[in-house]
Amino acid sequence: MSDPSFAIIHDLHSHTTASDGLLTPEALVHRALDKRVGTLAITDHDSVAAIPAARAEIARAGLALNLIAGVEISTLWENHEIHIVGLNIDIDCPQMTALLEAQLACRQQRAALIAERLEKANIPGALEGALRLADGGAVTRGHFARFLIEQGKANTVADVFKKYLARGKTGYVPPQWCTIEQAIDVIHHSGGKAVIAHPGRYNLSAKWLKRLLAFFSECGGDAMEVAQCQQAPDERSQLAAYAQHYNLLASQGSDFHQPCPWIELGRKLWLPAGVTPVWESWEKAAQTV
Ligand code: AMP
Ligand code: MN
Ligand code: MN
Ligand code: MN
Repeated sequence: MSDPSFAIIHDLHSHTTASDGLLTPEALVHRALDKRVGTLAITDHDSVAAIPAARAEIARAGLALNLIAGVEISTLWENHEIHIVGLNIDIDCPQMTALLEAQLACRQQRAALIAERLEKANIPGALEGALRLADGGAVTRGHFARFLIEQGKANTVADVFKKYLARGKTGYVPPQWCTIEQAIDVIHHSGGKAVIAHPGRYNLSAKWLKRLLAFFSECGGDAMEVAQCQQAPDERSQLAAYAQHYNLLASQGSDFHQPCPWIELGRKLWLPAGVTPVWESWEKAAQTV
C-alpha cells in the first residue's frame, strides 16, 4: 500500500455497488488511498446509500481519507439527460431523501419498461437480470448492459449501448428525471455544492454546451467538472475557460465505476491555472472552525 501521507489528490466523482459501481463502499475507500487520493467523493446515481458504510470503514480501519458525501442526480434539460453532482451534502436532509426516493421510483419504472421492450425483441428476463446485478442498489442502464453482455448480445459495454440502450435503440425508454433547477435547489437545501458532471460527454455542440452552462449558472449552480482522467488536453483547457466565463467553480473526478485499464481513482486529476477549485469553499470553512 502507498504511504497515506502522500495521498493528496482530490477525486470528487466515483461509484459503488449502491449504484452501478462494481466495488463495495469499503473496497472503494481502501482503493482510493492506494491510488493517493486524500479526498474522495462517493457520488452514486440517485443514491447516498454507500456513505454510511464508507464512513464506518474509514473509522474502523483508521484511514487518512477525507470522505465527501455526494450524489449524482439525473436530470432532464431540453430533452437531454444531464447529470448534476451534489458535493458535501447532508445525506439526511429531508428534501434530499424525498427527491432521491422519487428518482429511484423512476428508475424502477423505467427498468420495467426497458425489460418490456427487450422482451419484445426476444430478450426475456432482463428485469430480473438487471435487478439481480443491481443487488438492491439503484438500477441503471449499466446493469442492463451487464445483463445483455452475460446473454452474449454484445462483447463490451460501449457496444451494448450502441446496439440496445442508447437513445432511439430497442431498449431505450425516455426517462422522467427531475429538472436541473430541482436538483440544484435540493443540493443547496442539503448544504452542498451543485456541479455539472462530465460536460464533454453529452454530445452537445459548442453552442448547446454554452447554453447549458449559462442556464446552470443562472439557476445558481456552483461548479462544473473540468478535469477527468480520459480527456484531450485541449478539452480540459476549454472547460477551464468556460468555468471562468460562466463564473463556475471547477471540480475534478474520475467517475470510477470498476477497475479497468483506462479509468482509475485519482488518475490524471489536476486543474489548469486560473480556475477556483470547488473544494476551496469547504476546506476554508473547516480551517476557520
Ligand atoms: P442511467 O443513469 O440508468 O441512464 O445509466 C447511465 C449509466 O450507464 C452511466 O452512468 C454509465 O455508467 C453507463 N453508460 C451510459 N452510456 C454509456 C456508454 N455509451 N458506454 C458505457 N457506459 C455507458
Ligand atoms: Mn454510471
Ligand atoms: Mn454521469
Ligand atoms: Mn458518474
